[in-house]
Amino acid sequence: MNAAPADQIRLLDVQALDTRLTQLAHKRKNLPEHEEIQTLEGDLTQLRDLLVAAQTEESDTAREQTKAEQDVDQVRQRASRDQKRLDSGLVTNPKDLESLQSEIASLAKRQGDLEDVVLEVMERRESAQERAGELARRVESVQAKTEDATGRRDAALETIDTEVATVKKEREIVAGSVPAELLKLYEKIREQQGGVGAARLYQRRCEGCQLELNITEMNEVRAAAAEEVVRCENCRRILVRTPESGL
Ligand SMILES: [Zn+2]
Repeated sequence: MNAAPADQIRLLDVQALDTRLTQLAHKRKNLPEHEEIQTLEGDLTQLRDLLVAAQTEESDTAREQTKAEQDVDQVRQRASRDQKRLDSGLVTNPKDLESLQSEIASLAKRQGDLEDVVLEVMERRESAQERAGELARRVESVQAKTEDATGRRDAALETIDTEVATVKKEREIVAGSVPAELLKLYEKIREQQGGVGAARLYQRRCEGCQLELNITEMNEVRAAAAEEVVRCENCRRILVRTPESGL
């Protein structure tokens, strides 16, 4: 294939812009914020689950406390009724008196036990409240961190996308000035060769595969006409000759 030396040189400009686009795509995909946000979102899910559990425990213990307090109240009312009956002097039968006194004593003990239950439930409720409060604060803090990281990620993406748009526009202009057939060959090789289709021959070295050309290969390149599109024997990329090629 033949192409004007200036068109071959312009192919290097296209290559440089394509390389830049590849770098930008890589940078876009591998922003540290992506991983940061993923980790934070994982933490957030976990913390929210723990918060729901603590809040459930909080409302369960609140109900338990109400129930335990009602139990205490019932016993207290019954004891108070018994005490009134005793104080009224209306119960005179010794057997009834004894049974009434014994009931008052057993109710007092029962009340004490139930009050212990209330205290125990209150302690559990308080600790659930503390835990829920602490978890709510942590959720808030991780949420703030997530928002911050999201903001940084979006800003970074915007910067990259702006540059991508600029480079693409430039690439379109430069590629538009390269003969279609040469560009097609370049695109084909680029696809096969990991994104690099044209390389500079710089001081006898192919900058595509970094190998130095041997004497025979150098002689062949020297013998080739300036318009001839030369390929690297090793990597098959388009080898572009410049004044620094060492010919
Ligand atoms: Zn090569």
